[in-house]
Parts: sequence; C-alpha cells; structure tokens
Amino acid sequence: MLLPDNLVQETIKDANGKRILNLLYKERRLTKQEIAQSLGLSIPTVISNVNDLMVEGLVEEAGVADSTGGRKPVIVRFRADARYAFGVDISPTEGRVILTDLDCRILEEDGFPIQELRKYEFIADQVCRIIGEMIRRRTLDRKEVLGVGFSLPGTVNEESLLLQNAPNLGIANISFREFADRLALPVYTENEANAAAYAESVLGVVKDLNNLVYISITKGIGTGIVIKDHLYKGKNKRAGEFGHMTIEAHGKRCNCGREGCWEVYASERGLLNSYKECGGRAAQGIDEVFEHVQEGEPTAAEALDKYLDYFAIGIQNIILMLDPDYVVLGGDITRHRDAFFEELVRKVFVPNSFFAQGDTKILLSKLGKNASILGAALLPMQTLFFLNEKVI
Ligand SMILES: [Zn+2]
Repeated sequence: MLLPDNLVQETIKDANGKRILNLLYKERRLTKQEIAQSLGLSIPTVISNVNDLMVEGLVEEAGVADSTGGRKPVIVRFRADARYAFGVDISPTEGRVILTDLDCRILEEDGFPIQELRKYEFIADQVCRIIGEMIRRRTLDRKEVLGVGFSLPGTVNEESLLLQNAPNLGIANISFREFADRLALPVYTENEANAAAYAESVLGVVKDLNNLVYISITKGIGTGIVIKDHLYKGKNKRAGEFGHMTIEAHGKRCNCGREGCWEVYASERGLLNSYKECGGRAAQGIDEVFEHVQEGEPTAAEALDKYLDYFAIGIQNIILMLDPDYVVLGGDITRHRDAFFEELVRKVFVPNSFFAQGDTKILLSKLGKNASILGAALLPMQTLFFLNEKVI
C-alpha cells in the first residue's frame, strides 16, 4: 500500500506513541533514555511522543532519576487513571456491569437478575441505566471513557456487534449496535470464553504466554483460543466450539441439535446428570455434589470419577488438536480444586505416544468469576495500546 508522505509520518508517529505507551504500561516508570534504548528510538522521537502522550493525559513526568553525569534524566510514569472502560457480562441468569481503570482495577460494580434473555429491551435498559449512574457518580467525562465491552454467551461477530447464536438460550441474531447510540460510547462485543481467554492472557495466570486454550465450565462449555497473543476465531467466528465436539457417537442429545457433544457430559449439567445416573440424591447444583464427595459418599465419588473421564477426553482432544502451552480452566468448578484437579490431570496425561505431563500445563483460572467481564473491559483498551487487530 502506498500512502502519502504526511500519512506515513502520522502512522509512524501513532505507532511509536502506542509502543511507548505499551512499554510504560508494563514497566510503569522509565526515563526517556530508557524508553529510547528499549524501543530503539532516538531521544527527540521519544521526547516528541511523550509530550503528545502527556497532552492526552496518559503519562506524566514523575521526578528525576540519579545521574551518572550531566543532566538528571526525567522519569515518565504511566497514568492508570487516565482513561476508563466498562465491562458488561450477560449470562443466562444475570447481567453485571463494572467500571475499571487502565489497570483493570474494578472501581464500580453493579448487576441485575435476568429471567429471560429474550427480553432484550429489559437488558438494554438495565445496562444503560447502570452505566449512566456510574458515569454520573464518578463525574466522568465521556472522553475519558474508552468504551463498553460486552461478554456474551454464544457465537459473537465482533465486527457487526452481533450475538449470532446461543443454542443453550434459544436465541440468535441479536444486535448490540444500538448501545453505541444510546450510550454515546464505542461498543465492543466478544464471546464469554474468548473474553476470559483474552483476560487470562493479559492479566491472569499466563500473562507472558503465547498459546493457551481457556475452557469455561458453566451450564455449557465454552472455549477461547489465544495464539501468539491473538484471539483465534476463524472464518465464521466460531472457532473453538470444543463444547460441541462429539465424544460419544449416538450419545446424549445436545441443545445444538447434535448428539454426544462434550458439554453434555463435562459441563456442570454433565456432573449433575452423572450423579443422578449413579443413583444420587436430588442435587440443585455442583456444590452439593462436591459436598457429598467430601462427606465420603460412594455414589458421589463414582459420579465424579465418570464425569472426570469425559472431562479428560475433551482436554486430550484439545491438546492433540492445538498443542497449546497452557489449558486454563474457569468456572465455579474451580472452587473445588482439591476434590478433582489432581485426578483430572492424571486422567488427561495417561501414558500415550503423543504427549506427556509438562508438555501442556493445565491451570485453574486466577481471575475466577471475573475473567469474562475483565476481558470485556479490556476490549475498548485495545485501541489505545495495540497496533494490530487482536483477533485472527
Ligand atoms: Zn452440541
């Protein structure tokens, strides 16, 4: 592509500004000399870009460092409170809204119950009301707010802001475009497991790491794939629907219309079904099943063992397909680590000729229930910090 000279200059300037901001975001405070060295830029280029960033309020000068001779070098500091972002998480049962600073510190949090996701108008009104209240309470200027990121339960087209398909909820083709007008803010959307995978790669247990698969265990199973710091979504935005890979031919029917899908066996529903089929008592949720396991009830132990067999098969398939550095597990089940984790890892790494324990590390999410919503809040920040699209 051939660009006019002034546009080439602008693009380079913009790129250098982002690189400097990105470096300061990670290192917090550096002298201009250190920035120049670290990025291979000239001192005048650094000074000019830092001045621009100071005008925008994104960095500030913070004293001087000791000198080894000559003038003392000025320290430049990243300002995490220079901008804000909203994260919104829509699940089948509740909506949550957070306001964060650039370090993803949660400054405000609110939520509302969702009876039926189909009542989209109600959800839209609640989200707009809460965001409006937070903006007023914090007396924020809209210019300080980078935007609103949504984490959604289904296949999401982030370019057209469309929730394309959510089979567990029986909904399809819901547009989130109207939020941009109603809130007068940029809006971003992402699938909940992708958002969580993104948050884990930026903020979580594996932040310096390249390739990971995040597995979200809820009523269904969602997975997000990060390859070299990019979310991998594929041509039709539905890469990583591992929850719907078949692990049992002619198995149990799934909401997606197929049979034997992994999520039918390895989601929270899968554990509850396993307990029921083993002859267990009525259980409202997985916490109860784990309580019975803790009490030493043989039925619960048998149900968990069968459940972990299926859970492990799915993870093995993912390792065989993608050979990731890390598999990160998220969802309420991670609260019961002691009851299942060691056994799950043992089942995944049964002796085989392809992979051994240590080739891929299996970890539990550090961000817990906030993984998806923090990933949502990170979406608007991409425009500030990153040069390229973070989705491939
Ligand atoms: Zn399915």
